[in-house]
Amino acid sequence: MANELYNSMAAYAESKADYMRETRQDFHKHAEAGWHEIRTCSIIADRLFKMGYTKVLMGKECFDADKRMGLPDQEELDYVYQRALEQGAIQPYAEKFKDGFTCVIAVLETGRPGPVIATRQDIDALGVFECQDPEQHRPAKEGFASINPGEMHACGHDSHATIGLTVAETLLKHKDQLCGTVKILFQPAEEGVRGARGIAYSGVMDDVDYLIGVHMGPRPKDMPDADIGFGYATSMANAKLDVYLTGKACHAASPENGNNAMLAMAAIVQGVYGIPRASAGDARINVGQVIAGSGRNVVCDRVKMVMELRGLNQPSLDYLRPYAERIIHNAAAMHGCTAEIKLMGATPSLLIDTPELVDEMVVFAEKMGFKVAKPKAGPTSEDFSYLAQRVQEHGGKSFFFRCLTTCAAPGHAVTYDIDEKDLPMGVKFFCAAITKLMGLTE
Ligand SMILES: [Zn+2]
Ligand SMILES: [Zn+2]
Repeated sequence: MANELYNSMAAYAESKADYMRETRQDFHKHAEAGWHEIRTCSIIADRLFKMGYTKVLMGKECFDADKRMGLPDQEELDYVYQRALEQGAIQPYAEKFKDGFTCVIAVLETGRPGPVIATRQDIDALGVFECQDPEQHRPAKEGFASINPGEMHACGHDSHATIGLTVAETLLKHKDQLCGTVKILFQPAEEGVRGARGIAYSGVMDDVDYLIGVHMGPRPKDMPDADIGFGYATSMANAKLDVYLTGKACHAASPENGNNAMLAMAAIVQGVYGIPRASAGDARINVGQVIAGSGRNVVCDRVKMVMELRGLNQPSLDYLRPYAERIIHNAAAMHGCTAEIKLMGATPSLLIDTPELVDEMVVFAEKMGFKVAKPKAGPTSEDFSYLAQRVQEHGGKSFFFRCLTTCAAPGHAVTYDIDEKDLPMGVKFFCAAITKLMGLTE
């Protein structure tokens, strides 16, 4: 009896293959980067209500507003709202997502006792200019490359949004046979690890017993027919800083009349890379971009620096970050300048998968006939860790699986693409795992 339910759900997911391809291509074409996802969210909300969901949390209902990170300025937020409306965002939902509140959570309450299970799909695009050459890139050839310059679904989150919608529909069609509650979370701004924290602090995760995350991934070379993969993923603790240096401009012929922010910047770059190794743990530092100066014969008065710090564990970041901030302020002072530091994104260090649950899921998935690429441990930075931390603090468990596909190029590349034929597999494994955690599938 048990697997009849899963078989029916799997057949339903398979029947949605064309819908999934079209939905993924529509999200791909209208790529919206972090905190821009107004059109995307409005379509997700509209479809959830049309399916028959009655409880759908939208916008501010999903956040502790003050805990959001890395929001664009108001001018940009206003621009992307207008753009979303021009590109088919659906009212009255669209306005709920204005001003950096781009999140949707569908809640399926079965009315029968059982666990609270949350699925998490991130929905944002990346700051990448998509390849528009039809010879090199299928989305360009087939007319669904991004129409928003500098915003591209180069990490597969268009697929995650599509999988989430289809999971929502498949669960609802089988609601009478399910138990407990499922929360299907469509999360903004994963890139730059900015979106999850505000949601984690909102309280929506506090009753969750099991949290399941998904990401598209390439099939491993040694297992070219694999369907899904797992990890015992650890998340590196991570802090992303923007630094603004202010000096005083003057004529380059009389530099003594100014305060040279370029020199402060140079001292900072040298200084932060020179932070001594510490016993707390492995660490990384990168100054990825500097924007400085105004002209050849002018002493530089303004610098923006974009940097990130990572620690393999929290103590290593807790050592690195104040050290770097000390260098920034003191190097600025050394050259008569001032420094302002803004935190643009962060994640805690955490074992985001609960290992015993991963082991159980691997055995279960193989029994159900999924071809499983073996678990690999590896450090990543994924703001799923904020949600997982919240769930684990309340005694819940979490795991993350990969829906494997044939990738045209590595993640974040301008020619990244997936094979949409693989999307129903993500829905099938979500449904298998959910029914297993409900105790309905053996
Ligand atoms: Zn990414
Ligand atoms: Zn991603």
